[in-house]
Amino acid sequence: MHNRPLPPPRSAFFQPVVKSRVKMITVPFFISHQGCPHTCVFCDQRTISGANGALPSTAQILDRIELWRSTADGRSLEVAFFGGTFTALNKETQRQLLSPLQPLLRNGTVASVRISTRPDCIDIEHIVWLSQMGVRTIELGVQSLDNSVLKASGRGHSATDSLNAIHCIKSQGLIVGAQLMPGLPEDTPDASLASLEQTITAGADFLRIYPTVVLHGTELARRYSAGEFTPLTYDRGVSLCKILLQRAMRSNIPVIRIGLQADHGLNSDSILAGCWHPSLGQLVRSQLYADLISRFVASDQHVTISCHPARVSDVIGMKRINIQGQTSRGVQIQIISDAKIKKEELKVQTEVSCVTYSIISDINYLISEV
Ligand code: SF4
Repeated sequence: MHNRPLPPPRSAFFQPVVKSRVKMITVPFFISHQGCPHTCVFCDQRTISGANGALPSTAQILDRIELWRSTADGRSLEVAFFGGTFTALNKETQRQLLSPLQPLLRNGTVASVRISTRPDCIDIEHIVWLSQMGVRTIELGVQSLDNSVLKASGRGHSATDSLNAIHCIKSQGLIVGAQLMPGLPEDTPDASLASLEQTITAGADFLRIYPTVVLHGTELARRYSAGEFTPLTYDRGVSLCKILLQRAMRSNIPVIRIGLQADHGLNSDSILAGCWHPSLGQLVRSQLYADLISRFVASDQHVTISCHPARVSDVIGMKRINIQGQTSRGVQIQIISDAKIKKEELKVQTEVSCVTYSIISDINYLISEV
């Protein structure tokens, strides 16, 4: 991957560190399985990252940053080393990756650096050094805070390791993100929700939620084929993610991604089973709005619904599924974009009333419904 000409920046890569708090453009480097001594049952880093295992050279790092800087329209750049386990690389390799960034951090070309790693591969001393090298965000593969889930998934670390890592990173003033994987072996919707709540309580600044998918060639694929593992279906995955997202929103914790990104070799051909869709996040948000409308709009009404411009497509739903769902209840619905409406709210207007409802506070889900 790193030997081929660099692709032009694509919108799919434009991931702010924490949506709506820090607007940055992320320059991604995938370091694949480098540095990771483990084999989690679900993991095929080669598929997820599409990388062939090679680390980027100094020239490749600088070239890519320059390419992205030239299309950044003056926005700040964040360099991110995704995949693998950054802090398990030997120290000299970590230094080789971070050193080319130092002049760019000093002159302001790069605003910050993000890495991802395992919870048991980081300690205070390491965090202090990373901070000195410009790292401002550390993403942890928490996956679950249930020890039986972690053990059944071959993670090789405990929930306490994750909580300690979050506390250590926070204690040094860095931003900490947590990746969660509902639907792993031994997991339940209750355990997934408990993991998310404990992660938020521990101090995570943002979350990624990746429902477990079964990738070809993994231990999980073997168990699935042998009938030893039942993955989340699409419907149950969306239903669970909807509750997790709402719970995070109630704590004002951004969920910056739901579902693995369809890129770099990850597609429906590489996935054997599980809850996956290239636009899973939109489908989950869309379901929240659909539930809110169904909850507060009676059948056979004519209704005008106003929503924030950024949420129009979520409210309408993919292929207009939410509109069709309401039509089947006899509801005639008109959607209006209104920048004065908060993103999580809908203003519902009928001939006799006009009320604003929120997907955060006006619908209550039971985790037992998943
Ligand atoms: S720790 Fe991360 S990179 Fe290593 S096997 Fe597990 S998921 Fe893959």
